[in-house]
Amino acid sequence: MFLTAAYTTVGYDFTYIFLFLGIAIVSYIVQANLKRKFEQYSKMPIGMTGRDIAIKMLHDNGIYDVKVTSTPGMLTDHYNPATKTVNLSEGVYNSASIAAAAVAAHECGHALQHAMAYAPLKMRSALVPIVQFSSSIMSWVLLIGIITIQSMPQLLLAGIILFATTTLFSFITLPVEIDASRRALTWLQITGITNSQNHKYATAALRSAAYTYVVAALSSLATLLYYVMIYLNRRD
Ligand SMILES: [Zn+2]
Repeated sequence: MFLTAAYTTVGYDFTYIFLFLGIAIVSYIVQANLKRKFEQYSKMPIGMTGRDIAIKMLHDNGIYDVKVTSTPGMLTDHYNPATKTVNLSEGVYNSASIAAAAVAAHECGHALQHAMAYAPLKMRSALVPIVQFSSSIMSWVLLIGIITIQSMPQLLLAGIILFATTTLFSFITLPVEIDASRRALTWLQITGITNSQNHKYATAALRSAAYTYVVAALSSLATLLYYVMIYLNRRD
C-alpha cells in the first residue's frame, strides 16, 4: 500500500518534470525562432519607417488622439491604453523594414481594438490590477501553502486561485494578440505597403510572435495543473 502510494507520487512527479522540461525546450525554440526571424526580416527593406507606418495606419482608421513614440530596448514594442501611446522600440521606430512594418502595424492594431472597445481587450485591461496584485504575493502564498499543506491546505488553495488569475490573463491575451496581427496584416495588404512578394514575411514575423504567447499560456496552464495536483493528492 505504502509502496503503491510512493510509486504514484514519484510517477506523477516524473510526468511533470518531463512536461516542464518539454515546455522549457519548446519555449526556447520559439523565442530563438522569433529572434532569428526578426533579424532576418529587419534586413528586408520597405518604403516607410515603423513610425510613418504607425501614424498612417492610425490616421487611415480615423484615430488622431494616439501618439507614436520611441522606447528603448529590443522587442519592447507595446500599446499603452492608459496614455494612448503606440510605443515602438528604437529599431522599429526608425527602421524601414518588413519586421518594423509588421510590428508597428500590430501595435496600431491594439490602438484600433481600444478605439472600438474590442471585448477581449477590455477584459484583459480589467484583469491587469488583479493580476498585478496576484503576481506580487502568489509565489509566497504557494510556497508557504505547500509547506503547510497538511495543517492548512486552504493556503495552497488560495495560492492556486491567485495563480489561476494569471493563467486566465495569459489565455485572454491570445485572441487580443491574434486579432491585432490580423488587423495589421489586412491593412498592410490593402494599402500596398506590403506586396505579393514580401507580405508572407510580415505574416511569418507576426505568427512567430503569436507562438510565444501560445507557449506562455500553455506553460502557465501546466503550472496551474501541477499545483492543483499537489492540492488534490494531499493526505488529509
Ligand atoms: Zn500585441
